[in-house]
Amino acid sequence: MPKIAVIGSGTMGRGIAYVAAISGFTVTLNDINQESLKNAKKYIYDEWEKSEQRGFLTKEDINKGKDNLTFSLELEECVKDADLVIEAVLEVMEVKIKVFQKLDQLCSPSTIFASNTSTMSPTEIGAHISRPEKVIAMHFFNPVHKMKLIEVIKGLDTSQETVEYVTGIAKLMKKETVEVNEFPGFITSRMNCLIGNEAMNMLMEGVATAKDIDKAVKLGLNHPMGPLELADLVGLDTRLRNMEYLYQTLGEKYRPSPLITKYVKAGRLGVKTGAGFFNYSKS
Ligand code: NAD
Repeated sequence: MPKIAVIGSGTMGRGIAYVAAISGFTVTLNDINQESLKNAKKYIYDEWEKSEQRGFLTKEDINKGKDNLTFSLELEECVKDADLVIEAVLEVMEVKIKVFQKLDQLCSPSTIFASNTSTMSPTEIGAHISRPEKVIAMHFFNPVHKMKLIEVIKGLDTSQETVEYVTGIAKLMKKETVEVNEFPGFITSRMNCLIGNEAMNMLMEGVATAKDIDKAVKLGLNHPMGPLELADLVGLDTRLRNMEYLYQTLGEKYRPSPLITKYVKAGRLGVKTGAGFFNYSKS
């Protein structure tokens, strides 16, 4: 089985590492922040235990998962033997490019580079390193162990071999894929950001309460989650960055709702901070 390194152990990196390790890959999870790595380990171990209690995983699966997965602050150590690197750091192009430039120096020339970006351009990342044909976006969904899809986004110079390689990896993770020709926001983020933004504007206009907006979308439009609850799960800081990028690249209809900007300024980032459009504090 190929070796996978996951860079960034936040909401998405920890979910990708969970699924990759349980699928039998040897996985290293890297972050620059010790606290984030510690929380990621706790999250993954707790989720494995819950899955065992619900009968989705056996004790043996979990023991293998634990053997397959290591956590480290040392980037070089994590990526030196990797066949595939999946980047899940902040949705800021300058940060992603810096990470890939380092990876370009540390990894073997044959290593494939995938970004879990929700909106941005694998072409732009590829243009800043020596292997644009090996750069692709693999857009996983949250929570990774429950969501079936990975969007596979082909940049201008991404080779067909790279597309086939990551599609094969997705299959081994028991995920479905769709192939997308790069365009800002791909299929799902472009759609989802608009729905979420409209819900935020309605809340700001006093059309209905957050609870009733979500209830209407779930029961009337048959969405499994309400758009405000979903934005809280994504993280309002991450969603705002997605909206800002789409506003910059696709124009006016993606202008972020003033309400999300206000919430992010207040530090109300959703589930990860205990409050967003809804309250998640335990007390
Ligand atoms: P997050 O803020 O939860 O986590 C980001 C992590 O990256 C943090 O732990 C941070 O310490 C780490 N980091 C920052 N710079 C780093 C570096 N140079 N090297 C190593 N680690 C570094 O973010 P997230 O929600 O997990 O989003 C990560 C990516 O996944 C973004 O591109 C986002 O758009 C995308 N994405 C997010 C979701 C979602 O629901 N949150 C869904 C799909 C895709």
